[in-house]
Parts: sequence; C-alpha cells; structure tokens
Amino acid sequence: MNKKEILDLIALCDQCNICVGSCSTYRAAKNEAFSPPARLKVTEKVFKGESLSPEEIESIYNCPQCGLCDLICPKKIPISEIMDKCRRELAIRGLGPLDKHNKIIEGILKVGNAVNGDPDKRWDWLPDKFPERESDTLFYVGCLPSYLVKNSARSSYLVLKKLGVDFMLHKDEDCCGIYFYNSGRWDLAQEKFEENLERFRNLGIKRIITTCAGCFYCFKRYYPRLLDEFNIQVLHIVEMLPSLLQKMEVKPKKLKREVTYPDPCRLGRKEGIYNAPREALRLCGVEVKEMEKNKEKAVCCGAGAGIRSVYRDLSFNIARQTLDKAPTKTIVSTCPFCLFNLSYTSKKSSAGKNLVYITDLILESLSPASL
Ligand code: SF4
Ligand code: SF4
Repeated sequence: MNKKEILDLIALCDQCNICVGSCSTYRAAKNEAFSPPARLKVTEKVFKGESLSPEEIESIYNCPQCGLCDLICPKKIPISEIMDKCRRELAIRGLGPLDKHNKIIEGILKVGNAVNGDPDKRWDWLPDKFPERESDTLFYVGCLPSYLVKNSARSSYLVLKKLGVDFMLHKDEDCCGIYFYNSGRWDLAQEKFEENLERFRNLGIKRIITTCAGCFYCFKRYYPRLLDEFNIQVLHIVEMLPSLLQKMEVKPKKLKREVTYPDPCRLGRKEGIYNAPREALRLCGVEVKEMEKNKEKAVCCGAGAGIRSVYRDLSFNIARQTLDKAPTKTIVSTCPFCLFNLSYTSKKSSAGKNLVYITDLILESLSPASL
C-alpha cells in the first residue's frame, strides 16, 4: 500500500460512524478522537505532511490494531493496516515512537527482550537441563512467556514433549521484533528480522512453533513483508494440538471444567484460528462457554500493538470489558499477552477471574496423575 493508495482508501470513508461503537478504545476512553474515522482523518493529515496535535498522535498510537473495524466497515477500508503505515510515517517524520516506546526499544536493543529481563534468566522456566538437541523445528518461546508468563512456556514445552513433537530450543533466542514493527520503527524491525532469519538459517530451521500470538503473527505476516524471502512455516502451538491429541493411544483425561475462551485478535479475527483451541479443549473434557461476542466479533483484550506499555489505564479499561462479560470464573487464552493483561486487570479490579494458558489445561489432562 503506497501513499496514494492509502489516501484513496481514506477518501472512501464517508463518516457513517457504523464502526465507532465497536471500537474498544473509543468505548473505554469515551473519546471520539479515539475512533476509527477520527484515526483515518489524522492519517490523512500525516500523509499530507500537515502538523498534528499530541492527541492526534496519541490516537494513532493507542489503537491496539484489533481489526474489528476492518470487519465492520461497509467500505472495506483496512483501517488497522493503515494504522501500521501511519505509525511508520510518524516515525519517518520524527513524530513517533513516543518516549515510553523508545525506552522499551532501547531495552530490546540492550538486553534482547521487550520486558527488560535478564538474558541469563531467559531459560529459568525450563523444567529440564537445556536440551542441546537439533531439529528443523524450533519451539520459539518468546519474551513474555520466558519472563512474565512462565507457566505458558513451561506447559507448552512439556505438552510438545508429551505429544512426541520433534523440536529444538535456541539458546540465544532473542526478541522477534514485533515491538519495533508496531511502534513504526520498521528500520529496526528489518534489522531484527534479518538477524533472526540468519540464525534460523544457520540452524537449518524449516518450521517455527510459537506460544505467543504476537510472535506468531510477527513471523507469519510481518517477516514476509519486510524480508525478500522467508520460507519458514510458522505455526501457533494450538494449531497442532487437536490432531496430536487425537492420535494419542492413551486418551487425555476429561477434566470436566467450564471455561471462557476470548479469541485473541491476532489468532482469531486476523488468522481465522477458531476451531483448534475449542477442539483441543473439548478433547480434554473442557467445555467452552462462549462470550456473547466471540470468534470474528471478539472484543480485544487491550494489550497489543504496543499500547499496554504506554497507555496502561486504557489497556486496563479495555480488559475490563472482557472480564465483565466472561461467563465463567476460568478464562483460557492462547496468547500470553492477553493472559498477562487480563490477569493483571482481574487482580487490580478484584474481578476474581482465574487466567490460564491453554497448555496448562492440556498438560493437566495428560499428566500421569490425571490418567
Ligand atoms: S483496530 Fe480496533 S482499536 Fe483500532 S480503530 Fe479499529 S476497532 Fe478501534
Ligand atoms: S464504517 Fe468505514 S466508512 Fe463508516 S466511519 Fe467507519 S471507517 Fe468510515
């Protein structure tokens, strides 16, 4: 999408406002400046080189790019993708990223992860001695699971082992680079993508399995956009689970639980992965009680695209919308970042929800004590 194409798409917006009520940031902030048509107007100013107010810049950076407006817009304007391009243009014009983004960017450049974790502690979650085995399949753990949502890393690793998947870990695993991309620093994203691709090539990697919906989306969609060639198959762990569970000789124990599964934007609406998590849970005897708005209409958790690191209150208020509407006490996620934000919000607001990563439940149903 070049500048002319973006401006042509923006010109299609007739301010019908059909999308406004669905926008989670608009609903949480109750501010029209943070609605899809307002963001398109700002983007037009950005690409026409006009001056911008701080609130206008904020409106571009506080959109979690959930993509719900893309689906609703009768003119089919790809608003969330236009936000990507707008952030890049803001960075080129020196108007972005914001100071808080820049601190995180400096951290990634210094320690190789987006959460300021000690690189020597990246593998602390690992229940075994580091497995020095080689494989053409890499289990790419990701920054958040490695440091802040360690249960998701640990249970994913153990489930892959129990299900007999041939995979390796990469001792020098580094950030996937999504934060650079989402903040508009595509120059840094490109460097990181090239660096990671070189590592994967040197290891002979043909397939990557991720546990984080953000890493998954970054490898699958952003890497091919910025790199000349990216021929590695990218899978989120949940895509593999139903068939692997079905093939098991000893069937998983039925856990007899009820949970809510709020579809993460980057796995659900953006990639259409709706059945695999529900089927994997069903095979383990876990019943999914659906949110009123689920699958392609699911409401964003409010964490993605760099907004939680800068607009924490907004992320909190968006997450409340999901927590308040979840019909069960236990909420299962396939995205460690959704899980982290929903869990934090539940604790802070005393919502009393129990947040678990999907493989935590799968592991429980596969563990010897349960069989
Ligand atoms: S992508 Fe989501 S948060 Fe951003 S403008 Fe669209 S509906 Fe609102
Ligand atoms: S639905 Fe589409 S055309 Fe209508 S206001 Fe939203 S972006 Fe503009």
